[in-house]
Amino acid sequence: MFKGGCLCKAINYEVTGGIKFSVLCFCRECQNISGGGHLPQMAVDRDTVTMIGPLKIRTWKSESGNDIEHAFCSECGSSIYKSTSMMPENIFLVAGSLDDPSIFKADQRVYEDSRQPWDRG
Ligand SMILES: [Zn+2]
Ligand SMILES: [Zn+2]
Repeated sequence: MFKGGCLCKAINYEVTGGIKFSVLCFCRECQNISGGGHLPQMAVDRDTVTMIGPLKIRTWKSESGNDIEHAFCSECGSSIYKSTSMMPENIFLVAGSLDDPSIFKADQRVYEDSRQPWDRG
């Protein structure tokens, strides 16, 4: 079990399941969302997450035609998770939202074609 939330502490979540896999994503969307070169994120079962707080969800269609969700705190703007209709059972919590971000370990790096030369990730 592990916990996380946002910068202003309005959002808190608790995950009772394990981390299924984790990635550093270098795609342009994740660069925009993170404000940096990549977004560290981990897949967990949606059903194992309990979340409270003023979560705002923005949805759009990716270039590959999947429905993408980006969930963030409507008070402070911190990213909490992304999800894709390709894997609807999962949400991808962002590593920086963890109460203890040191538990995050990246298994894979994806969309490296979009990696910026200044981001060694
Ligand atoms: Zn917040
Ligand atoms: Zn991405």
